Amino acid sequence: MLAIKELYKEQLENWPLVTTNYAQLQSAIYREFVFEGFTVKAQFNPERIRSANAKVDAQSVQQRACFLCPANLPEVQKKIAYPPHYNILVNPYPIFPEHLTIADQRHLRQSIEGRAEDMLRLAQDLQAHILLYNAPESGASAPDHFHFQAVNKGCMPIEQDITEAGNKLLLKEGKEGNIYCLKNYLRTAFLLESANITWLQENFKQILYTMNDLHSGQTEPKCNLMLWFENGTGHWVIFPREKHRPTAFYETGDAQLLVSPGIVDMAGLLVIAREEDFEKLNADLIRDIYAQVSISEEEAQKIKDKLKCTQEKRAVLL
Ligand SMILES: [Zn+2]
Repeated sequence: MLAIKELYKEQLENWPLVTTNYAQLQSAIYREFVFEGFTVKAQFNPERIRSANAKVDAQSVQQRACFLCPANLPEVQKKIAYPPHYNILVNPYPIFPEHLTIADQRHLRQSIEGRAEDMLRLAQDLQAHILLYNAPESGASAPDHFHFQAVNKGCMPIEQDITEAGNKLLLKEGKEGNIYCLKNYLRTAFLLESANITWLQENFKQILYTMNDLHSGQTEPKCNLMLWFENGTGHWVIFPREKHRPTAFYETGDAQLLVSPGIVDMAGLLVIAREEDFEKLNADLIRDIYAQVSISEEEAQKIKDKLKCTQEKRAVLL
């Protein structure tokens, strides 16, 4: 989509906040932690403190002006309308060299219900990008206003991890596509792979349906999603979530670790806003963060068992 290149160019030239933050990102510092079969990276990114610290409880959200509503966007922020009801915006606080927010034009709450088709269509139209979604209480900093994100490929460890056959456990094999879960990955991740759009859509809904079945809350199950196409094959990853933030987030002093995992963190790139947290991060802390924010092994097994016995059942919920 040529228009997106022009959008970046325009915003980099005319919006000083964007100019500064994208330039700073080029000198971002990274650390890498090697586990068996995969790696986890950490990015030190002080500008992401807003997101790490975002108050996402209902009262705080109600009291602030919505920063994704078209009426509240700064005048300098440009948008591309994407039918039928989205705006594509440059994210002024990037994690990646290309980082878009794709917000609904209407003030509607964050929920994936009824949006799977849109996510597929966006991922097909933005083939150079990866589509991302954070459910409420799972990293979304605007749970009151529906939005996806889209970022350039090649920056998140999971993209490489899923190319290693040894990292994947096959749960369902089919003519049109396969469902896997990732093995010994410290956090639960389900992966759908297929070149067939209908198969992807139906099986994605089936997994969400299964998660919802096991979830007793009023809202959708906590989760993070990512979807991208490579050589015609769609890769759709689902991270079912337990907690939004690990207990260390709420500690004080040295014991505090300001990390608020969303989809990028679950995909293997921990975004750390404070230098002291970036420096003290180690493999054990990473294991602990993932263990706390991901669903338990027991819950994951329930989903796997249900998936196996409901293979023929069509998703009717979404
Ligand atoms: Zn809004």
